[in-house]
Amino acid sequence: MTLASVVGQPRAIDALQAALRSGSVHHAYLFAGPEGVGKELAAIGLAQALTCPEKPNEGCGSCDGCSRIAKGSHPDVTWLMPDAERVERGLAGRSDFSGTPSREIRVEQIRGLLERISLRGLESKRKVAIVVDAHTLNQQAQNAFLKTLEEPPSDTTLILLASAPDKLLPTIRSRCSKVYFGPLPVALISERLQKERKLDPQTAELAAVMAGGSLGRAMALDVDALAARKEVISGFEALKPGDMGALLRWAETFGATRELAEQALSILSLWTRDVALAGAGVERLANRDLETLAREVAERTHESTLHRRHALLEKTKAIIVERNGAPRLQLERMLIELLEGR
Ligand SMILES: [Zn+2]
Repeated sequence: MTLASVVGQPRAIDALQAALRSGSVHHAYLFAGPEGVGKELAAIGLAQALTCPEKPNEGCGSCDGCSRIAKGSHPDVTWLMPDAERVERGLAGRSDFSGTPSREIRVEQIRGLLERISLRGLESKRKVAIVVDAHTLNQQAQNAFLKTLEEPPSDTTLILLASAPDKLLPTIRSRCSKVYFGPLPVALISERLQKERKLDPQTAELAAVMAGGSLGRAMALDVDALAARKEVISGFEALKPGDMGALLRWAETFGATRELAEQALSILSLWTRDVALAGAGVERLANRDLETLAREVAERTHESTLHRRHALLEKTKAIIVERNGAPRLQLERMLIELLEGR
């Protein structure tokens, strides 16, 4: 792995390579963009380019230093992330923490980082710090971090990775050079899914569309749940105003867990988009096998209803995922609102 091998982000990678070639690498970067689109790979690539003795300013990807950077074990490349993320990655055990592992990056972690980068590099002249999920830095940690950004050590490059950069203080954002990472093309994700997860082309494309441009999310998608897609859609389309029993059963089935509800809402969101496309006479829907049903629904549903439906599905998903809403209750509420408006 090298910076040049990061796929699907030509603009971001070109900008970094140009800075490396001209010797104008910034002391702090903010890599902003959705989860799973290559921000972390690019950070690894940049760290390699900055420290590799074999291919300076490019990174060879295979020397001892480059390999240890990719594995996260290079002494001059410091990683920082919330404790919960370390547990998820298997870098720490749940029992290493007295309470629930924190989802925030705390000020003590920032102090530890500052101490490390104040020391001379052990193996290379340049040091790099990679802050994963930088948007989870809490207020105190952000303030501590700001001081470093104001007076950065000359031999250190800080790389902040953030999927929600708006949560960072404007003063932090303005002191970083921003590099944007956009959603990856569906074709690229679909190809990787076919190759690495051995999915058939149609399932791969559907998964790619559902993952919303995130390769990481696409790789983690539950394929069995994708197979249950027809059940989600046909059950939803069969619901009728006044049939409270069916409505509650649907919410009970797909609201059993947070993950199930999130997946069902993603499926319906994509389905609603398909129905709108079918109504506009577009072919090649994501749910290609359900084209007939999509056309039927499009014929009896007004475009403005579909827009409202889509907005409500997304809102419900945000409440469940980001604000810890009770999945079953939120699905019930959503269905009642949708059916009343039909
Ligand atoms: Zn190397």
